[in-house]
Amino acid sequence: MNKILILVVEDDKPVRNLITTTLGTHNYNYLTAVNGKEAIMEASSHNPDIILLDLGLPDLDGVEIIQKIRTWSNVPIIVISARSEDADKIEALDAGADDYLTKPFSVGELLARIRVAQRRISFTKGDRDAESVFVNGSLRIDYAAGCAYLDKDELKLTPIEYKLLCLLSKNIGKVLTHTFITQKIWGSNWSNNVASLRVFMATLRKKLESAPDSPQYIQTHIGIGYRMIRVE
Ligand code: CA
Repeated sequence: MNKILILVVEDDKPVRNLITTTLGTHNYNYLTAVNGKEAIMEASSHNPDIILLDLGLPDLDGVEIIQKIRTWSNVPIIVISARSEDADKIEALDAGADDYLTKPFSVGELLARIRVAQRRISFTKGDRDAESVFVNGSLRIDYAAGCAYLDKDELKLTPIEYKLLCLLSKNIGKVLTHTFITQKIWGSNWSNNVASLRVFMATLRKKLESAPDSPQYIQTHIGIGYRMIRVE
C-alpha cells in the first residue's frame, strides 16, 4: 500500500490516541500536533498528504489555521468538531477545509472520510484541473465545448445547471457550502439564496442522477451544502 502521511491536530489526548491508534492499525503514517502553532509548523515542514484538524484548540482558532495553511497548500483538510453547530463547520469549509467529522465519530466514519480525501488526492494529481475534459463514472464534461454527457447522451442543461455541475466537478471530493456555491454562481449579491440553489440542484439531479432520491454523483449535506463524489 502506498503510505500516505496524515497530520493529526488534536489537543484532547484520548481523542488523539483513538485517531492515531486507528491510523496505525490501518497502515497510515501520521504526525501529531497538540495546538495550532505546532500544527502550522508540522504542516509546513513535513508536507502531509491529509490533515485532520480539531477546530477547538487552546491557542489558535481552527479557521485561522486553515487560512494560514491555504496560503501555501491545497492539502485536504478534514475538520473535526465537537461543536454541533453547523456554523463552525460552514466557517471552516468556507475558509478552505474539504470535509468535516462531528465528535463523537466512529472509527469507520473516520476511515471513510480519509478514503474520500485519498481519492481526491489521486484524482487531482497530474494536474487534472488544467485538463479540458472531466470524467467521473458515466459523467463526462467537456469544459472547452461547454457540454456535459452521461455515457453517450448529451445532458440538456440550462446555463445555471451547467455552471453548478462544473463548479461541483472542479471541486470533486470537497464539501461546498451554500454560500460558496451561490456566490460563485450568482455573485455576491445573491449570497445565501439557498432556496434558488435547491431548485436548480433538484432539476440538475433529475437530469444527472438515475435515482435522484439516492444520488450517486451529488451528495447533500443538510444545512451545509453539496459535494460531488468520486464514482468508482
Ligand atoms: Ca479540542
